[in-house]
Amino acid sequence: MSMSHAFIAGLLVSVAAFAQSTDTATAHRNAAMALVDSNNRGVAHLACPAEPVPAGVAVAAAQGGSGGGRGGSGRGGRGPAGRPPREQWYQEPQQVFDNLYYLGTKDHTSWGVTTSAGIILIDTLFSYATKDEIDDGLRKLHLDPANIKILIVTHAHGDHDGGVKYIQDTFRPTVIMGAKDWAAAAQEANPPRHDVDATDGQKVTLGDTTLTIYITPGHTGSTLSLLVPVKDHGEPHLAMEWGGTALSARTSKEMLQSYISNAGRFLDIATGAGADVVIGNHTEYNDAINKLAQLRARMAGDPHLWVIGKEGVRRYLTVAQQCGKAYAALADGRP
Ligand SMILES: [Zn+2]
Repeated sequence: MSMSHAFIAGLLVSVAAFAQSTDTATAHRNAAMALVDSNNRGVAHLACPAEPVPAGVAVAAAQGGSGGGRGGSGRGGRGPAGRPPREQWYQEPQQVFDNLYYLGTKDHTSWGVTTSAGIILIDTLFSYATKDEIDDGLRKLHLDPANIKILIVTHAHGDHDGGVKYIQDTFRPTVIMGAKDWAAAAQEANPPRHDVDATDGQKVTLGDTTLTIYITPGHTGSTLSLLVPVKDHGEPHLAMEWGGTALSARTSKEMLQSYISNAGRFLDIATGAGADVVIGNHTEYNDAINKLAQLRARMAGDPHLWVIGKEGVRRYLTVAQQCGKAYAALADGRP
């Protein structure tokens, strides 16, 4: 072997060693944490393994299991058996952009998108909150819930699809959800009627407004992520919603790989399309309750603090992806 061959061989060994040392749960978690800010802190909390990485987690993850939120109840589950006291969860509805309205609780978000031909609703909260926050909430904002023409459901977990049946029965919109999540919803106690299966890249147009849907499995089998055009005093922006975020040691390797690849794919799509606003379906992801309060105090000429720019969108989805890689490394026994 010549000197140069020996040199190259040595280089390859050290590159391999470097790749190995960076593809660990700790390294990916650190990469996520380095990007954490107030616009994505909750993503890191709900999608990354806790620190320090627990020794037992690698074993549990390696054994596979289905996706779902950390700790189960309230996140992936059907929610509390009864209706919790309203003061624990009630949040006033609020306009966030010219054509985008917050219709959520203190914890979970439903969004109303107004168009020239009616309202597109995104998600429905746990069933106990649907009437107060969405039906009554729209009325409080001087909007008519009878104009809900389309309902998009990001995924079939109770905190987002709990009120689908109520909205379906009361306002009869077209309901769009991913096929695998329709199948999951059919197993619920009082299931919604199967309506439209979403397709990847689907354009959903109502009047003057077109949303785009992407199928991004990982959190559930056919989680939907969205691009939503919004305006601030007439100035156009593009909002993106990553439709399913939380991971746990019970998320299967297959779902983790899907989550990682779809986070990267959606990052390219969203930033390529010029997305500069993040909306979520859990308030924790981007500190939404504080941001709503700050928005109410906004003075004329102040910037809109929900507009975080392309770099903010990139950081948000990169945190999600690095958390997915951290769990995948754990599942492969590389803490
Ligand atoms: Zn969920």
